[in-house]
Amino acid sequence: MKHPQIHAFSGQSGVIRLAGHRGARGILPENTLEGFEFAINSGVGLLELDVTATRDRVVVITHNHRLTRSMIRDRDGNWLQGEEPKVSGLTYAELQQYDAGGLDSNSAYGQRFPDQAFLSGVRIPRLSELLKLLQQPKHQNVHLLLEVKSDPDLLADTAARQALAEAVVADVRAADMQLRTVLHSFDWNLLADCQRLAPEMPASFLTQLPENAADVGEDSSKEVNPVAGCSVLDLPARVAAANGQFWCPYYRDITADALALAKNLGLTTMVWTVNEPGDIEHMIDLGVDVICSDYPGRVQHLLLKRGLHWLPEAER
Ligand code: MG
Repeated sequence: MKHPQIHAFSGQSGVIRLAGHRGARGILPENTLEGFEFAINSGVGLLELDVTATRDRVVVITHNHRLTRSMIRDRDGNWLQGEEPKVSGLTYAELQQYDAGGLDSNSAYGQRFPDQAFLSGVRIPRLSELLKLLQQPKHQNVHLLLEVKSDPDLLADTAARQALAEAVVADVRAADMQLRTVLHSFDWNLLADCQRLAPEMPASFLTQLPENAADVGEDSSKEVNPVAGCSVLDLPARVAAANGQFWCPYYRDITADALALAKNLGLTTMVWTVNEPGDIEHMIDLGVDVICSDYPGRVQHLLLKRGLHWLPEAER
Protein backbone atom coordinates (compact mmCIF):
# COMPACT_ATOMS: atom_id res chain seq x y z
CA MET A 1 0.00 0.00 0.00
CA LYS A 2 1.30 3.42 -0.91
CA HIS A 3 0.22 4.92 2.40
CA PRO A 4 0.59 2.39 5.22
CA GLN A 5 -1.17 4.69 7.69
CA ILE A 6 -4.50 4.17 5.91
CA HIS A 7 -4.79 0.76 7.53
CA ALA A 8 -5.30 2.37 10.95
CA PHE A 9 -8.37 4.18 9.61
CA SER A 10 -9.92 1.32 7.63
CA GLY A 11 -12.97 -0.48 8.88
CA GLN A 12 -12.90 -4.26 8.64
CA SER A 13 -15.03 -7.18 9.67
CA GLY A 14 -16.11 -6.48 13.27
CA VAL A 15 -14.27 -3.14 13.39
CA ILE A 16 -15.50 0.43 12.92
CA ARG A 17 -12.76 2.90 13.80
CA LEU A 18 -13.24 5.66 16.34
CA ALA A 19 -11.72 9.14 16.19
CA GLY A 20 -11.82 11.47 19.19
CA HIS A 21 -13.01 14.84 17.86
CA ARG A 22 -10.69 17.61 19.12
CA GLY A 23 -9.71 15.02 21.74
CA ALA A 24 -13.01 14.36 23.50
CA ARG A 25 -14.82 17.70 23.32
CA GLY A 26 -17.91 16.48 25.13
CA ILE A 27 -15.85 15.61 28.21
CA LEU A 28 -12.74 17.83 28.32
CA PRO A 29 -11.74 21.16 26.73
CA GLU A 30 -11.23 20.77 23.00
CA ASN A 31 -7.86 20.71 21.28
CA THR A 32 -5.94 20.59 24.57
CA LEU A 33 -3.26 18.16 25.67
CA GLU A 34 -5.54 17.28 28.59
CA GLY A 35 -8.29 16.27 26.17
CA PHE A 36 -5.97 14.33 23.87
CA GLU A 37 -4.44 12.42 26.76
CA PHE A 38 -7.87 11.53 28.07
CA ALA A 39 -8.91 10.21 24.64
CA ILE A 40 -5.84 8.06 24.10
CA ASN A 41 -5.88 6.82 27.68
CA SER A 42 -9.47 5.71 26.96
CA GLY A 43 -8.13 3.49 24.22
CA VAL A 44 -9.12 5.72 21.31
CA GLY A 45 -6.73 5.03 18.44
CA LEU A 46 -7.38 8.10 16.28
CA LEU A 47 -7.24 11.76 17.23
CA GLU A 48 -8.80 14.56 15.21
CA LEU A 49 -7.38 18.04 15.81
CA ASP A 50 -7.30 21.47 14.17
CA VAL A 51 -4.22 23.55 13.51
CA THR A 52 -3.35 27.04 12.41
CA ALA A 53 -0.28 29.23 12.88
CA THR A 54 0.63 32.22 15.02
CA ARG A 55 2.20 35.40 13.67
CA ASP A 56 5.65 33.97 14.37
CA ARG A 57 4.76 30.80 12.46
CA VAL A 58 4.30 28.44 15.38
CA VAL A 59 1.74 25.76 14.50
CA VAL A 60 -0.83 25.64 17.29
CA ILE A 61 -3.83 23.44 17.95
CA THR A 62 -7.03 25.45 17.91
CA HIS A 63 -10.18 25.49 15.82
CA ASN A 64 -11.35 29.08 15.36
CA HIS A 65 -9.31 31.77 13.66
CA ARG A 66 -10.09 34.19 16.46
CA LEU A 67 -9.80 33.54 20.17
CA THR A 68 -13.46 33.05 20.97
CA ARG A 69 -14.98 34.58 24.09
CA SER A 70 -17.19 31.57 24.85
CA MET A 71 -14.09 29.42 25.37
CA ILE A 72 -11.12 31.67 26.13
CA ARG A 73 -10.31 33.64 29.28
CA ASP A 74 -7.71 36.37 29.65
CA ARG A 75 -4.81 36.29 32.11
CA ASP A 76 -7.10 37.54 34.89
CA GLY A 77 -9.55 34.73 34.32
CA ASN A 78 -12.20 36.90 32.63
CA TRP A 79 -14.02 35.93 29.44
CA LEU A 80 -12.65 37.95 26.56
CA GLN A 81 -14.19 41.37 26.03
CA GLY A 82 -14.17 43.55 22.93
CA GLU A 83 -12.80 42.40 19.62
CA GLU A 84 -11.66 38.79 19.60
CA PRO A 85 -7.97 38.69 18.57
CA LYS A 86 -6.91 36.66 15.56
CA VAL A 87 -4.58 33.77 16.34
CA SER A 88 -2.51 34.63 13.27
CA GLY A 89 -2.05 38.18 14.63
CA LEU A 90 -0.56 37.02 17.95
CA THR A 91 2.86 35.62 18.70
CA TYR A 92 3.06 32.24 20.37
CA ALA A 93 4.22 33.96 23.59
CA GLU A 94 1.16 36.24 23.52
CA LEU A 95 -1.14 33.30 22.89
CA GLN A 96 0.20 31.58 26.01
CA GLN A 97 -1.38 34.25 28.17
CA TYR A 98 -4.87 32.98 27.44
CA ASP A 99 -6.69 30.14 29.15
CA ALA A 100 -8.45 27.54 26.99
CA GLY A 101 -9.58 25.34 29.86
CA GLY A 102 -13.32 25.79 29.87
CA LEU A 103 -16.50 27.04 28.27
CA ASP A 104 -18.72 29.93 29.33
CA SER A 105 -21.88 28.17 30.47
CA ASN A 106 -23.97 31.18 29.50
CA SER A 107 -22.85 31.11 25.87
CA ALA A 108 -24.64 29.22 23.11
CA TYR A 109 -21.46 27.23 22.54
CA GLY A 110 -21.05 26.38 26.22
CA GLN A 111 -24.65 25.16 26.34
CA ARG A 112 -23.87 22.61 23.63
CA PHE A 113 -21.37 20.87 25.94
CA PRO A 114 -22.81 20.94 29.45
CA ASP A 115 -20.77 17.90 30.56
CA GLN A 116 -17.39 19.32 29.57
CA ALA A 117 -15.06 19.62 32.59
CA PHE A 118 -14.08 23.17 33.54
CA LEU A 119 -10.31 23.49 33.99
CA SER A 120 -8.08 26.48 34.60
CA GLY A 121 -4.53 27.20 33.54
CA VAL A 122 -4.85 25.31 30.24
CA ARG A 123 -2.86 26.72 27.31
CA ILE A 124 -3.43 26.39 23.58
CA PRO A 125 -0.81 23.76 22.71
CA ARG A 126 1.74 23.71 19.95
CA LEU A 127 1.36 20.88 17.46
CA SER A 128 4.89 19.77 18.36
CA GLU A 129 3.83 19.15 21.99
CA LEU A 130 1.16 16.68 20.93
CA LEU A 131 3.53 14.99 18.50
CA LYS A 132 6.04 14.58 21.32
CA LEU A 133 3.41 13.01 23.56
CA LEU A 134 2.55 10.51 20.83
CA GLN A 135 6.18 9.51 20.41
CA GLN A 136 6.03 7.70 23.74
CA PRO A 137 6.19 3.95 23.06
CA LYS A 138 2.86 3.33 24.82
CA HIS A 139 1.13 5.58 22.26
CA GLN A 140 2.84 4.14 19.20
CA ASN A 141 -0.43 2.97 17.62
CA VAL A 142 -2.21 6.32 17.85
CA HIS A 143 -2.78 8.01 14.50
CA LEU A 144 -3.68 11.60 13.67
CA LEU A 145 -6.27 13.22 11.51
CA LEU A 146 -4.65 16.61 11.36
CA GLU A 147 -7.03 19.26 10.09
CA VAL A 148 -5.34 22.31 8.62
CA LYS A 149 -7.59 25.38 8.92
CA SER A 150 -7.16 27.85 6.13
CA ASP A 151 -8.02 31.43 6.96
CA PRO A 152 -11.20 32.53 5.11
CA ASP A 153 -9.79 36.10 5.06
CA LEU A 154 -6.75 34.89 3.10
CA LEU A 155 -8.31 32.52 0.59
CA ALA A 156 -6.80 34.40 -2.34
CA ASP A 157 -3.38 34.46 -0.68
CA THR A 158 -1.62 31.43 -2.14
CA ALA A 159 1.63 32.21 -0.35
CA ALA A 160 -0.05 32.34 3.08
CA ARG A 161 -1.81 29.04 2.44
CA GLN A 162 1.37 27.38 1.30
CA ALA A 163 3.37 28.74 4.24
CA LEU A 164 0.86 27.17 6.65
CA ALA A 165 1.03 23.82 4.86
CA GLU A 166 4.85 23.97 4.93
CA ALA A 167 4.95 24.74 8.64
CA VAL A 168 2.60 21.86 9.46
CA VAL A 169 4.51 19.38 7.31
CA ALA A 170 7.81 20.53 8.85
CA ASP A 171 6.52 19.84 12.39
CA VAL A 172 5.21 16.40 11.46
CA ARG A 173 8.45 15.46 9.74
CA ALA A 174 10.58 16.83 12.60
CA ALA A 175 8.77 14.43 14.91
CA ASP A 176 8.98 11.62 12.34
CA MET A 177 5.21 11.17 12.56
CA GLN A 178 4.45 11.21 8.82
CA LEU A 179 3.46 7.55 8.72
CA ARG A 180 0.96 8.06 11.53
CA THR A 181 -0.61 11.21 10.10
CA VAL A 182 -3.32 12.05 7.59
CA LEU A 183 -3.70 15.67 6.45
CA HIS A 184 -7.31 16.78 6.50
CA SER A 185 -9.08 19.96 5.36
CA PHE A 186 -12.22 21.59 3.99
CA ASP A 187 -9.99 23.66 1.73
CA TRP A 188 -9.19 21.48 -1.25
CA ASN A 189 -6.61 23.94 -2.60
CA LEU A 190 -4.73 23.61 0.63
CA LEU A 191 -4.94 19.81 0.36
CA ALA A 192 -3.41 20.05 -3.11
CA ASP A 193 -0.51 22.00 -1.55
CA CYS A 194 -0.17 19.30 1.11
CA GLN A 195 -0.14 16.51 -1.48
CA ARG A 196 2.59 18.28 -3.40
CA LEU A 197 4.67 19.04 -0.30
CA ALA A 198 4.17 15.76 1.52
CA PRO A 199 3.15 12.91 -0.78
CA GLU A 200 3.92 10.48 2.02
CA MET A 201 0.81 11.62 3.89
CA PRO A 202 -2.67 10.80 2.54
CA ALA A 203 -5.11 13.65 1.92
CA SER A 204 -8.48 13.66 3.62
CA PHE A 205 -11.23 15.70 1.98
CA LEU A 206 -13.84 17.13 4.29
CA THR A 207 -17.26 17.99 2.87
CA GLN A 208 -20.40 19.65 4.14
CA LEU A 209 -23.29 20.34 1.80
CA PRO A 210 -24.56 23.92 2.09
CA GLU A 211 -28.14 22.97 2.97
CA ASN A 212 -27.23 21.55 6.36
CA ALA A 213 -26.88 24.06 9.19
CA ALA A 214 -23.46 25.08 10.50
CA ASP A 215 -22.64 24.32 14.15
CA VAL A 216 -23.65 26.98 16.68
CA GLY A 217 -20.90 29.07 18.26
CA GLU A 218 -17.89 28.09 16.11
CA ASP A 219 -16.31 29.04 12.80
CA SER A 220 -17.98 27.41 9.83
CA SER A 221 -15.78 25.98 7.10
CA LYS A 222 -18.48 26.06 4.44
CA GLU A 223 -17.05 29.08 2.68
CA VAL A 224 -13.77 27.31 1.92
CA ASN A 225 -15.43 24.02 0.91
CA PRO A 226 -15.90 23.71 -2.87
CA VAL A 227 -19.08 21.61 -2.90
CA ALA A 228 -21.79 24.16 -3.71
CA GLY A 229 -24.25 22.71 -6.17
CA CYS A 230 -23.11 19.11 -5.58
CA SER A 231 -25.30 16.23 -4.54
CA VAL A 232 -23.84 13.84 -2.00
CA LEU A 233 -23.57 11.28 -4.81
CA ASP A 234 -21.12 13.56 -6.64
CA LEU A 235 -18.70 13.85 -3.75
CA PRO A 236 -16.81 10.52 -3.73
CA ALA A 237 -15.90 10.87 -7.42
CA ARG A 238 -14.75 14.44 -6.88
CA VAL A 239 -12.52 13.38 -3.99
CA ALA A 240 -11.08 10.52 -6.03
CA ALA A 241 -10.47 12.86 -8.97
CA ALA A 242 -8.46 15.11 -6.65
CA ASN A 243 -6.36 12.07 -5.64
CA GLY A 244 -7.88 11.98 -2.17
CA GLN A 245 -7.63 8.84 -0.11
CA PHE A 246 -10.22 9.83 2.49
CA TRP A 247 -13.71 11.26 2.17
CA CYS A 248 -15.06 12.87 5.34
CA PRO A 249 -18.68 13.95 4.94
CA TYR A 250 -20.87 15.60 7.55
CA TYR A 251 -22.86 12.70 9.01
CA ARG A 252 -26.21 14.21 7.99
CA ASP A 253 -25.10 14.33 4.35
CA ILE A 254 -24.03 10.70 3.84
CA THR A 255 -26.30 8.04 2.34
CA ALA A 256 -25.85 4.30 1.78
CA ASP A 257 -25.53 4.87 -1.97
CA ALA A 258 -22.86 7.53 -1.54
CA LEU A 259 -20.91 5.30 0.83
CA ALA A 260 -21.09 2.45 -1.70
CA LEU A 261 -19.65 4.76 -4.36
CA ALA A 262 -16.82 5.76 -2.03
CA LYS A 263 -16.02 2.11 -1.27
CA ASN A 264 -15.95 1.29 -4.99
CA LEU A 265 -13.46 4.11 -5.49
CA GLY A 266 -11.25 2.74 -2.73
CA LEU A 267 -11.83 5.72 -0.42
CA THR A 268 -11.77 5.49 3.35
CA THR A 269 -14.89 7.20 4.73
CA MET A 270 -15.04 9.02 8.05
CA VAL A 271 -18.19 10.78 9.24
CA TRP A 272 -18.19 13.74 11.64
CA THR A 273 -19.24 14.79 14.27
CA VAL A 274 -21.57 12.07 15.49
CA ASN A 275 -22.69 12.52 19.08
CA GLU A 276 -26.26 11.35 19.57
CA PRO A 277 -26.75 7.62 20.21
CA GLY A 278 -29.35 7.23 17.46
CA ASP A 279 -27.03 8.88 14.94
CA ILE A 280 -24.08 6.75 16.04
CA GLU A 281 -26.23 3.62 15.60
CA HIS A 282 -27.20 4.77 12.12
CA MET A 283 -23.53 5.24 11.12
CA ILE A 284 -22.71 1.76 12.48
CA ASP A 285 -25.60 0.36 10.39
CA LEU A 286 -24.25 2.09 7.28
CA GLY A 287 -20.81 0.59 7.88
CA VAL A 288 -18.60 3.67 7.57
CA ASP A 289 -14.88 3.21 8.21
CA VAL A 290 -14.52 5.81 10.98
CA ILE A 291 -16.91 7.59 13.33
CA CYS A 292 -15.56 10.87 14.67
CA SER A 293 -17.24 11.91 17.93
CA ASP A 294 -17.01 14.39 20.78
CA TYR A 295 -18.10 11.50 23.02
CA PRO A 296 -15.80 8.58 22.20
CA GLY A 297 -17.15 6.58 25.15
CA ARG A 298 -20.64 6.57 23.63
CA VAL A 299 -19.30 5.10 20.40
CA GLN A 300 -17.28 2.51 22.32
CA HIS A 301 -20.36 1.32 24.24
CA LEU A 302 -22.60 1.18 21.17
CA LEU A 303 -19.98 -0.84 19.27
CA LEU A 304 -19.41 -3.23 22.18
CA LYS A 305 -23.16 -3.79 22.57
CA ARG A 306 -23.17 -5.21 19.05
CA GLY A 307 -20.03 -7.29 19.53
CA LEU A 308 -18.02 -4.82 17.46
CA HIS A 309 -14.88 -2.90 18.38
CA TRP A 310 -12.94 0.18 17.28
CA LEU A 311 -9.59 -1.61 17.20
CA PRO A 312 -8.53 -4.88 15.55
CA GLU A 313 -8.07 -7.73 18.00
CA ALA A 314 -4.25 -7.58 17.96
CA GLU A 315 -4.31 -3.95 19.17
CA ARG A 316 -6.83 -4.21 22.00
MG1 MG B 1 -11.64 19.60 12.85
